[in-house]
Amino acid sequence: MPETPDGFLRFECQRGCVKCCEREGYVYFTEADLRNAAEHLKMTAKAFEKKYIYRTRHQRRLRKLGKQQCVFLTPEGCSIHDVKPTQCRLFPFWPTLVASTREWNSTAKWCPGIGQGPLIQIGSAMEAADEMHEAYPTFF
Ligand code: SF4
Ligand code: SF4
Repeated sequence: MPETPDGFLRFECQRGCVKCCEREGYVYFTEADLRNAAEHLKMTAKAFEKKYIYRTRHQRRLRKLGKQQCVFLTPEGCSIHDVKPTQCRLFPFWPTLVASTREWNSTAKWCPGIGQGPLIQIGSAMEAADEMHEAYPTFF
Protein backbone atom coordinates (compact mmCIF):
# COMPACT_ATOMS: atom_id res chain seq x y z
CA MET A 1 0.00 0.00 0.00
CA PRO A 2 1.49 3.43 -0.93
CA GLU A 3 2.48 5.78 1.90
CA THR A 4 -0.18 8.34 2.83
CA PRO A 5 0.67 11.69 4.48
CA ASP A 6 -0.69 12.27 7.99
CA GLY A 7 -4.27 13.52 7.97
CA PHE A 8 -5.09 11.92 4.62
CA LEU A 9 -6.43 8.65 3.30
CA ARG A 10 -6.32 7.22 -0.16
CA PHE A 11 -9.22 5.39 -1.70
CA GLU A 12 -10.53 4.72 -5.18
CA CYS A 13 -12.98 1.90 -5.85
CA GLN A 14 -11.54 -0.49 -8.44
CA ARG A 15 -13.50 -1.23 -11.58
CA GLY A 16 -14.84 -4.77 -11.69
CA CYS A 17 -14.11 -5.45 -8.03
CA VAL A 18 -16.93 -6.84 -5.85
CA LYS A 19 -14.90 -8.04 -2.90
CA CYS A 20 -16.86 -6.02 -0.34
CA CYS A 21 -20.11 -7.49 -1.70
CA GLU A 22 -18.76 -10.99 -1.21
CA ARG A 23 -17.75 -10.50 2.42
CA GLU A 24 -19.77 -12.24 5.04
CA GLY A 25 -22.22 -9.87 6.70
CA TYR A 26 -25.59 -8.22 6.35
CA VAL A 27 -26.69 -5.48 3.98
CA TYR A 28 -28.81 -2.94 5.84
CA PHE A 29 -31.28 -0.60 4.17
CA THR A 30 -32.58 2.72 5.39
CA GLU A 31 -36.23 3.46 4.68
CA ALA A 32 -35.10 5.73 1.82
CA ASP A 33 -32.80 3.00 0.44
CA LEU A 34 -35.74 0.63 0.44
CA ARG A 35 -38.02 3.06 -1.43
CA ASN A 36 -35.30 3.91 -3.97
CA ALA A 37 -34.45 0.28 -4.69
CA ALA A 38 -38.13 -0.62 -5.04
CA GLU A 39 -38.71 2.24 -7.48
CA HIS A 40 -35.61 1.23 -9.45
CA LEU A 41 -36.98 -2.29 -9.78
CA LYS A 42 -40.47 -0.95 -10.60
CA MET A 43 -41.93 -2.54 -7.50
CA THR A 44 -43.95 -1.09 -4.70
CA ALA A 45 -42.03 -0.61 -1.45
CA LYS A 46 -44.35 -3.12 0.14
CA ALA A 47 -43.67 -5.78 -2.51
CA PHE A 48 -39.92 -5.10 -2.36
CA GLU A 49 -39.92 -5.48 1.39
CA LYS A 50 -41.92 -8.67 1.28
CA LYS A 51 -39.53 -10.23 -1.22
CA TYR A 52 -36.15 -8.97 -0.05
CA ILE A 53 -36.20 -7.50 3.43
CA TYR A 54 -36.05 -8.93 6.90
CA ARG A 55 -37.28 -6.26 9.29
CA THR A 56 -36.69 -6.05 13.02
CA ARG A 57 -37.86 -3.32 15.34
CA HIS A 58 -34.96 -0.98 14.50
CA GLN A 59 -33.41 -2.40 11.35
CA ARG A 60 -34.10 -3.61 7.84
CA ARG A 61 -31.66 -5.99 6.21
CA LEU A 62 -31.61 -8.05 3.05
CA ARG A 63 -32.70 -11.63 3.34
CA LYS A 64 -29.99 -14.07 2.36
CA LEU A 65 -30.58 -16.78 -0.18
CA GLY A 66 -28.45 -19.82 0.52
CA LYS A 67 -24.74 -19.03 0.57
CA GLN A 68 -25.09 -15.89 -1.54
CA GLN A 69 -24.11 -12.87 0.55
CA CYS A 70 -26.26 -10.41 -1.40
CA VAL A 71 -29.15 -11.21 -3.69
CA PHE A 72 -28.30 -8.21 -5.88
CA LEU A 73 -24.76 -9.33 -6.63
CA THR A 74 -24.53 -10.67 -10.19
CA PRO A 75 -21.56 -11.72 -12.32
CA GLU A 76 -21.73 -8.22 -13.84
CA GLY A 77 -21.64 -6.52 -10.43
CA CYS A 78 -24.34 -4.87 -8.34
CA SER A 79 -27.68 -5.04 -10.14
CA ILE A 80 -28.95 -2.03 -8.18
CA HIS A 81 -25.72 -0.04 -8.43
CA ASP A 82 -27.44 3.32 -9.05
CA VAL A 83 -29.54 2.97 -5.91
CA LYS A 84 -27.38 0.74 -3.77
CA PRO A 85 -27.98 1.14 -0.04
CA THR A 86 -26.16 3.71 2.04
CA GLN A 87 -23.72 1.30 3.65
CA CYS A 88 -22.56 0.09 0.23
CA ARG A 89 -22.36 3.59 -1.25
CA LEU A 90 -20.24 4.89 1.65
CA PHE A 91 -17.90 1.92 2.08
CA PRO A 92 -15.11 2.07 3.24
CA PHE A 93 -15.92 5.37 4.94
CA TRP A 94 -17.64 3.67 7.84
CA PRO A 95 -17.17 5.18 11.31
CA THR A 96 -15.43 2.10 12.66
CA LEU A 97 -12.92 2.09 9.81
CA VAL A 98 -12.24 5.80 9.48
CA ALA A 99 -11.72 6.22 13.22
CA SER A 100 -9.12 3.48 13.51
CA THR A 101 -5.86 3.22 11.59
CA ARG A 102 -5.70 -0.42 12.59
CA GLU A 103 -9.16 -1.18 11.20
CA TRP A 104 -8.48 0.84 8.05
CA ASN A 105 -5.22 -1.02 7.41
CA SER A 106 -6.85 -4.34 8.16
CA THR A 107 -9.58 -3.59 5.60
CA ALA A 108 -6.89 -2.60 3.11
CA LYS A 109 -5.72 -6.21 3.13
CA TRP A 110 -8.80 -7.25 1.16
CA CYS A 111 -10.17 -3.99 -0.36
CA PRO A 112 -7.87 -3.18 -3.29
CA GLY A 113 -9.22 0.38 -3.52
CA ILE A 114 -7.67 1.44 -0.22
CA GLY A 115 -4.31 3.05 -0.82
CA GLN A 116 -5.23 3.91 -4.43
CA GLY A 117 -6.44 7.11 -6.08
CA PRO A 118 -6.33 10.70 -4.87
CA LEU A 119 -5.59 11.87 -1.35
CA ILE A 120 -8.72 12.39 0.72
CA GLN A 121 -8.65 14.63 3.78
CA ILE A 122 -9.52 12.72 6.91
CA GLY A 123 -12.17 15.41 7.63
CA SER A 124 -13.98 14.56 4.38
CA ALA A 125 -13.85 10.87 5.23
CA MET A 126 -15.30 11.70 8.65
CA GLU A 127 -18.16 13.60 7.00
CA ALA A 128 -19.02 10.52 4.96
CA ALA A 129 -18.82 8.46 8.14
CA ASP A 130 -21.25 10.89 9.77
CA GLU A 131 -23.78 10.03 7.07
CA MET A 132 -23.49 6.44 8.25
CA HIS A 133 -24.23 7.58 11.80
CA GLU A 134 -27.37 9.33 10.59
CA ALA A 135 -28.47 6.48 8.34
CA TYR A 136 -27.99 3.74 10.94
CA PRO A 137 -28.36 5.44 14.33
CA THR A 138 -28.77 2.19 16.24
CA PHE A 139 -25.43 0.83 15.03
CA PHE A 140 -22.95 3.42 16.23
S1 SF4 B 1 -14.85 -0.73 -2.09
FE1 SF4 B 1 -12.98 -1.96 -2.22
S2 SF4 B 1 -13.64 -4.09 -2.08
FE2 SF4 B 1 -15.46 -2.85 -2.55
S3 SF4 B 1 -15.62 -2.90 -4.78
FE3 SF4 B 1 -14.45 -1.05 -4.26
S4 SF4 B 1 -12.31 -1.68 -4.33
FE4 SF4 B 1 -13.53 -3.56 -4.24
S1 SF4 C 1 -26.47 -4.09 -2.71
FE1 SF4 C 1 -25.04 -4.06 -4.39
S2 SF4 C 1 -23.23 -2.99 -3.58
FE2 SF4 C 1 -24.45 -3.64 -1.82
S3 SF4 C 1 -23.63 -5.66 -1.23
FE3 SF4 C 1 -25.33 -6.01 -2.65
S4 SF4 C 1 -24.37 -6.19 -4.65
FE4 SF4 C 1 -22.89 -5.19 -3.28
